[in-house]
Amino acid sequence: MPPPHPFAGGNVRLTLCEAGAKSNCEMRRNQSNFYADWRLRCGVVPVFREDHERPPERLLQAVWFHQRLHRDQLQTVDGRVLQVLHPGFWNREAGPDFRDAVLRLGGEPAVSGDVEVDLTAGGWTAHGHDRNPDFRRVVLHVVWEPVERPPRPTLCLQSCLDSSLGELSFWLGTEAAHDPPAVLTGQCCLPLRDLDDAQVRALLLQAALVRLQSKAARLQTRAREAGWAQALWEALFRALGYKQNAWPMQRLAELKPRLCPADTPPDPHALQARLLGAAGLLPADVRGRQPASVYVRGLWDEWWRERDTFAPWALPPSVWRLGGLRPANHPQRRLALAAHWWSRGDLPRRIEHWCLARFKDSELARALLEQCDVGNDPFWSHHWTLRSPRLPAGRPLLGPSRLTDLALNAILPWLWIRATDGRSDTAAREIERRYLAWPAAQDNAALRLARQRLFASTPPRRFRGAAPQQGTLQIVRDFCEHANALCEGCRFPQLVREWVRSAGATT
Ligand code: SF4
Repeated sequence: MPPPHPFAGGNVRLTLCEAGAKSNCEMRRNQSNFYADWRLRCGVVPVFREDHERPPERLLQAVWFHQRLHRDQLQTVDGRVLQVLHPGFWNREAGPDFRDAVLRLGGEPAVSGDVEVDLTAGGWTAHGHDRNPDFRRVVLHVVWEPVERPPRPTLCLQSCLDSSLGELSFWLGTEAAHDPPAVLTGQCCLPLRDLDDAQVRALLLQAALVRLQSKAARLQTRAREAGWAQALWEALFRALGYKQNAWPMQRLAELKPRLCPADTPPDPHALQARLLGAAGLLPADVRGRQPASVYVRGLWDEWWRERDTFAPWALPPSVWRLGGLRPANHPQRRLALAAHWWSRGDLPRRIEHWCLARFKDSELARALLEQCDVGNDPFWSHHWTLRSPRLPAGRPLLGPSRLTDLALNAILPWLWIRATDGRSDTAAREIERRYLAWPAAQDNAALRLARQRLFASTPPRRFRGAAPQQGTLQIVRDFCEHANALCEGCRFPQLVREWVRSAGATT
């Protein structure tokens, strides 16, 4: 048994690099390196006992992602040869750990699907994957501990690592483990690298305008059926639902003529009760004396009075996807904002007013926020959700980041199609100008992955503003989503090459 680590106190807590990887001279050097010790103390590198503990799942995921395996000797537990043509894209959100891997099992044709990594095969049911529709596309279960006769294709990692666990543990704390593997880079990366910054920007802005117009076309179709204001409400609600809850939010907006007829908008509190009740998002448990419980009881009092009227349209709570959602993005909070808008009744007119006014580019977002802001709410300005404790400081129901999502996905497309529909070319050009000048949206996993696949690295100047982000997402929608992770059959690289050769890339 090696001596206790100096920072481990009474508990013998060793890094595997100390305990099991003496062949690595870097690791031996770190034993007398105080900076290396700081990393251990702060948990920058995993600390665990090789003989007593299982490796952390994070290490196993990194092993799969970077394929730190004897790749030419892989076999599933049932004895089939496994070829990993692409490990998939690491999914940091709810759902399987890796999306869209490309694998070949035995002599079968290659399949594209998801990969889940667990310590044990039993994790599949223990974590509820068997009941979760998100896991239907899983084509391989990767586990640490050996298992006999698993019910699905399973790879056991213990026997196929390319290094000892100690070395892999050390590697996980290094830069190399954080660099995305080269396999993430798409086939368009090379032709895109031949473009200068102005050409890249021009390409992304063109794609962004296509995105604006396709969102606008959807709004126009809906407006023909339901009117411009109703089409706007539905787009706003979809954007408020994020990708997890866009559908139930849209459904509630479709119910606006019933839930909030234009001639009799109730007060915001009554509307909150009605929207949350119809959404199936009022908590069943109303016990307690905390302000949140008292508030929920008040909402129930309102909802009980009118529940029979709206019950035929109420949504079941199961339609909401709340797992992994940040409290600030909870649909309860978004519906509270919507209740204020409906109660006030003049949001479409305010948005039109913003469109007609003149602003400097730097003032665009602030001026629109002023029009959409609903001011202080006695409860929601101080609580994230109906179950949250009081916040130390007040938070607005609508902030700049969410406003940007609303502007890009609902407001600017709605204004653009109304201008186009009304044959006002000047107004349409002005809205396009505002769209292209809009400040950047919050970065997210989809954008990071898209940049990695298309550009490998991300010079910030290329991505300044929301429009390059929107253009990047449009390319993903148009091309990446129609090809597999190996980019097979994707025509985008060829189109970029042809564009470079043509006059288009020089204009
Ligand atoms: S699928 Fe096409 S657009 Fe997407 S990364 Fe591959 S080559 Fe590029």
